[in-house]
Amino acid sequence: MSRAFQSSLPLSRHRIDRDHSSRSDLAVLDALWGSPEARVLVLNRGRALASSGENPSGYDGFGSKPAVTTTPVLAFLAPSLLPDAVLERIAEAGAGGGAESVRLYLGRSLDASGDAAAGSPLFAVTVDDERAAELGSGNWLDLRMVAADLDDTGAGVFTEALAMFNWHGTHTHCPRCGAATLVESGGWVRRCPVQQIELFPRTDAAVIVGIVDRDERILLGSNALWENNRYSLLAGFVEPGESLEAAAVREIAEESGVVIDDPQYVGSQPWPFPASLMVGFIAQVSADDTADLRPDGDEILDLRWFTREQIADPDNGILLPGSSSIARAIIETWFGGPLPTVERA
Ligand SMILES: [Zn+2]
Repeated sequence: MSRAFQSSLPLSRHRIDRDHSSRSDLAVLDALWGSPEARVLVLNRGRALASSGENPSGYDGFGSKPAVTTTPVLAFLAPSLLPDAVLERIAEAGAGGGAESVRLYLGRSLDASGDAAAGSPLFAVTVDDERAAELGSGNWLDLRMVAADLDDTGAGVFTEALAMFNWHGTHTHCPRCGAATLVESGGWVRRCPVQQIELFPRTDAAVIVGIVDRDERILLGSNALWENNRYSLLAGFVEPGESLEAAAVREIAEESGVVIDDPQYVGSQPWPFPASLMVGFIAQVSADDTADLRPDGDEILDLRWFTREQIADPDNGILLPGSSSIARAIIETWFGGPLPTVERA
């Protein structure tokens, strides 16, 4: 929908030229890796190494801000600062190597960010716990918690790298013949050496819907996996052979019994936990709806309509989605401004 909505999504920010044309030329990639401006983002178990001195403690698991605010900055290391074992693992990478054998080329930074200059070739690697202990001394950042506080470059490259390493971690072998695959094109392709087919990274579309009734209330649900006072929008994966709009109508009916008409696209955000693209909609309740809320009892345990006054009430006793989520951005679109933040002790 609007550029303003899209730019409000923390993980949709990107200030990098992905430089597609350099990926397929190993000599070019090696030259970029060897240049003095090259920098590497280091991941371990999906978390990114923070710039020295960062202490991001105090974030909760849903991205709420800590009581004492620190500004997280990603570490962008010169390749020569990586442990030798990491460099050897990349150099010796063969068929079937997992994420830790990949030197991922992210592209060229458009802005300066931390220790990366504007124009720096940026790479990413992921390391095992032993190498992480050598590098990190505990300062590793979780994307969901820090996304909203990173700069545009940091948020974009962390999202890009995490999504790609999640793919490499689970696609070491060919889905057709089972052969171990080789990493190519700066980490953007895995090739089956038996069938000579290229396998590309994938992303799974999910729809998330802000449902509004005739009284301008919004429907929020409590998921079985969350604390029982946490509420958010309903969401679900798009099935094969289904449009985004049809998926929105089906998922909402399955999870709530509510009938919606004509869902309107508002924006999208990558959500690499592990491999989603969240596609946001706002929809009105249909005239055919029976006004009978039926939580599915499996995924969704409770459903409630909220007025703006109830959402704004500091004593409402509910927790809302974190600042890194598209759910929060959609709720704020309906609400008409930023949601009140809960101060945490
Ligand atoms: Zn194969």
